[in-house]
Amino acid sequence: MTSEDILKRYFGYETFRGFQKEVIDTIVSGTDALVLMPTGGGKSLCYQIPALMLDGLTVVVSPLIALMKDQVDMLADVGIEARSLNSTQTFEDACDVIREIRSGEVKLLYVAPERLVSPRMLALLDEIKVSLFAVDEAHCISVWGHDFRPEYQQLDILKNRYPNVPRLALTATADEQTRNEIVSRLLNNPKVFLDSFDRPNIRYRMYEKNKGFIQEIIDFITGEHMHESGIVYCATRNKTQAVASALKAAGIDALVYHAGLENEQREANQAAFFERDCVMVATIAFGMGIDKPDVRFIIHVDMPKSIESFFQETGRAGRDGKPAESVLYYGLEDLMTQRAFIEQSDADDLHKQVSLHKLESMLALAESVTCRRAQLLTYFGEEAAESCGNCDNCQNPPVARDAQVDAQKLLSCIYRCSKTNGLGFGASHVINVLRGENNAKVFERRHDELPTFGIGRDHTMKYWRRVLRQLITKHYVNVNYQVANVLTVSEKAKTLLRGQEPFFIRVEGAKKLASQKVLNHEDLDDAEQRLFSLLRQWRRECAMENAIAAYNIFPDATLIQIAKRKPEQPSDLVGISGIGEKRIERYGDAVCRIVNRWRENEQTLAFSAMF
Ligand code: ADP
Ligand code: ZN
Repeated sequence: MTSEDILKRYFGYETFRGFQKEVIDTIVSGTDALVLMPTGGGKSLCYQIPALMLDGLTVVVSPLIALMKDQVDMLADVGIEARSLNSTQTFEDACDVIREIRSGEVKLLYVAPERLVSPRMLALLDEIKVSLFAVDEAHCISVWGHDFRPEYQQLDILKNRYPNVPRLALTATADEQTRNEIVSRLLNNPKVFLDSFDRPNIRYRMYEKNKGFIQEIIDFITGEHMHESGIVYCATRNKTQAVASALKAAGIDALVYHAGLENEQREANQAAFFERDCVMVATIAFGMGIDKPDVRFIIHVDMPKSIESFFQETGRAGRDGKPAESVLYYGLEDLMTQRAFIEQSDADDLHKQVSLHKLESMLALAESVTCRRAQLLTYFGEEAAESCGNCDNCQNPPVARDAQVDAQKLLSCIYRCSKTNGLGFGASHVINVLRGENNAKVFERRHDELPTFGIGRDHTMKYWRRVLRQLITKHYVNVNYQVANVLTVSEKAKTLLRGQEPFFIRVEGAKKLASQKVLNHEDLDDAEQRLFSLLRQWRRECAMENAIAAYNIFPDATLIQIAKRKPEQPSDLVGISGIGEKRIERYGDAVCRIVNRWRENEQTLAFSAMF
């Protein structure tokens, strides 16, 4: 049977999605493959169909027993012989499965990684013909992944023990480093299939937590999304209960889901969520395998531990392609709790460092002033347009502060420090030098003699850490996690150091300020009216010169705000709605020239009026 026949006959679908067919062809021809597809993209068919086409047993490595069971049941439903071996089975059941495998009737076997590498399992596999190893959630093998599982590392063994059996690694989230590690540990010259991670129908919004944010969530649901399906993620079980009570008190149909509930209750709530349009208030225990197409919103009451987790959790919204919302609330206390959690965990040091870095990257995304989508895609190694028009930073540019000079100060301090030992120093030390803290370590290293010593006194440690986070996520600064987290300046930083690139950081409390009163023409006094006319005249000329629509330079509403603010220098334009970094870069100088000329004129006018 061809792959198309199998798709129709067993699964009832007419056509392949994305590159499913190419993956299947690759595997069937005996070549290894790495598949990156967002959750819900259809990864399972990429190994289920080859399993039926190839002679022998396809072994699927999967970390979650519940998910294995779902898959086996589903396959049984369509008439495919699949089994699983896991720790919840009785000895007799496991023996039955092994007998069936030996007899050759089973096409797919789902196993947990630790089970696969057990001596008995390997002995069994040596005895029979294995057609394919499919490793699901393959990012778990990587210490760079957000979900490292030590038992996955033992899968290294497959490469040497079964060099002639094709291997397929699948994952929904993996940055470049993780990808490389999956390939080097599991695969041999694989074909790599990267699906786009863009989910254009999801609008992203991120807010700093304030006291009334639960009320904001209630208003959001009752105002725009009443009687729709949504998920509210909380960090702890207690919080899910508290938030659900608040929602219920406001008349919202809310349910709770977390690992601490009685099985029966948990399953009932999950079933209810699939049956009716309601809000699930849950910990991340609610997630894997949720495939409800019309989830309209995902709200994060607490910040996720990584961008990967954020992406995976928000990816459960809008599977049907219709508009959906992601709203995230973040706060510094989240950072503290999560950091403590990581530090107290029993993971090794390297893994702790990576987790901390992932957490910081998530915070940097939340605090950033540029397009959220562009940053998400860049994070996953994809090219992205500068702005998407469907996130808060695009639709309502936040109040930002020109921090180019500060970024340069910090970069050169990192550079100077690293020159002294050829390796680099950690964040605290570099910032201490920058702030002119003459502590023992600074003194001992004679870093008080560096030209950058004390040039950052005017800002707090907290501020400098904020700048540093942005520098790190934007790849201006590299962190060496293998060596005490020391910082070095990247190649990319050169343009920023030369002042050829803008650098902005978010001003705290941006949200309130961002929704400024909408000004109109009547709000301008006579002098401002004259400035407004001059600006419009400039805009007309500029539009003609560049053959673009005037509106694309600045809409009237923006010119009115400029006339009100009367900027002297480009950085004064920051925070006016409709003006982002790029526009300031492109038009900032010209606009300020108009304003300054107008100011001189007005002074002359005023002067002549005195006589
Ligand atoms: P993933 O593992 O990537 O999260 P799944 O393999 O579970 O995704 O597939 C997600 C959903 O898409 C399932 O309901 C599956 O039946 C469906 N699906 C997969 N491939 C196709 C296809 N070619 N046509 C239609 N539906 C498909
Ligand atoms: Zn955007």
